[in-house]
Amino acid sequence: MRFREVALVALIGVVFAVVFALPMALSPTSARAAGGSGDGKAPAQGKEGSMTVQVKVFNKAGDLVGPFSTPKVVKTDAEWKAILTDEQFRITRDAGTERPFCGTLLDNKKEGVYACVCCGLPLFASNAKFNSGTGWPSFFQPIAKENVTEIEDRSHGMVRTEINCARCDGHLGHVFDDGPRPTGLRFCLNSESLAFTEQKDLASLADPLAETARGADSAAIGAAALAAGAKGGAGPGGRAEAVFAGGCFWCVEAVFEELDGVIEVVSGYAGGARETANYEAVCTGKTGHAEAVKIVYDPSKIDFATLLHVHFATHDPTTLNRQGNDSGPQYRSAIFYASDEEKRVAEAYIKELTDKKAFPKPIVTTLEPLKEFYPAEAYHQNYACNNPFNGYIKAVAMPKVDKVREKFKDRLKEVSPLEQPAGKR
Ligand SMILES: [Zn+2]
Repeated sequence: MRFREVALVALIGVVFAVVFALPMALSPTSARAAGGSGDGKAPAQGKEGSMTVQVKVFNKAGDLVGPFSTPKVVKTDAEWKAILTDEQFRITRDAGTERPFCGTLLDNKKEGVYACVCCGLPLFASNAKFNSGTGWPSFFQPIAKENVTEIEDRSHGMVRTEINCARCDGHLGHVFDDGPRPTGLRFCLNSESLAFTEQKDLASLADPLAETARGADSAAIGAAALAAGAKGGAGPGGRAEAVFAGGCFWCVEAVFEELDGVIEVVSGYAGGARETANYEAVCTGKTGHAEAVKIVYDPSKIDFATLLHVHFATHDPTTLNRQGNDSGPQYRSAIFYASDEEKRVAEAYIKELTDKKAFPKPIVTTLEPLKEFYPAEAYHQNYACNNPFNGYIKAVAMPKVDKVREKFKDRLKEVSPLEQPAGKR
């Protein structure tokens, strides 16, 4: 026994020396037992251990390609300070945490990619972002498991899993096991650790690595696949979308955020042109837009028909171009259908409601083909959640939220996003 141990130690010594000098593809990982986000291919850990990692990057066509082997980015504190703000340095290089509800990317609902603010490595995509209610930008999976490393963090008397950029070891935040489907994980990020690039500008993230390391074991995950995930149907992780209008989007958003299976709800504009898809123009009532919401949902938990039922139970579909005191075509009741199937289901349900005289007056909800949905300005997102004491929210939105809570008791999230304890991290 003793002899074997001595031999083993010697062997480990040799292996360690070899590994130290070579790319660390063989290194052990910090794979989580049940997370599914780490595996044998995760990059090596440790600031001085490995000098090379495997990562995925964007090419000039806006496709995520790789994994490719690349040297780690290593800089002195002085060099980092020269390219980062004080706050970015404190968080990314010194494992700091920004205050909740203060990060600039918390309410960002644009489609695109979040990259490392230090080295530009793509880390997360908008189609995995969700409103966790914690006050920090949250995602249920990284854009590529290779690009985000995990390390046990025992600071502050807790055992947590710290997440870092694989290429530069920049601190990003932590990952927890209480996220939504499909992964059950919540990657909790600091806005300061991230730089956002819109989907249409993905080519600007092109990494020279994609061109030099072309071939080998590269597997392209197209921008198209990314878009499919956000566009409806069964994208990665099973996400679909529905676009409804029913008056002020603050209220409609708050209603749908309550439902289990709803991943996120974006307030925006539908029915008009891109050029005038802004709040000021839409308020004139002359742009053709309706204030609308895009509901991103998990079709294995909730379906389009149920979303329709909730919509008709929480707004008045009988008042033409009006919802309560809000009047004008921008407040019309509408279903923006993205497929013939959605149109068919909506028509059938309106007929059913009409046949059973569910409303005292005729339903005037319009069925309009969805051409494009334009997310509204950042301050409109999560408005009810961020402004609970606003008079309009208390008087108009909350009664609608109460309605969905009462009528769809068995379809609610366990904890309402409006009542998530702030600062849970
Ligand atoms: Zn980085």
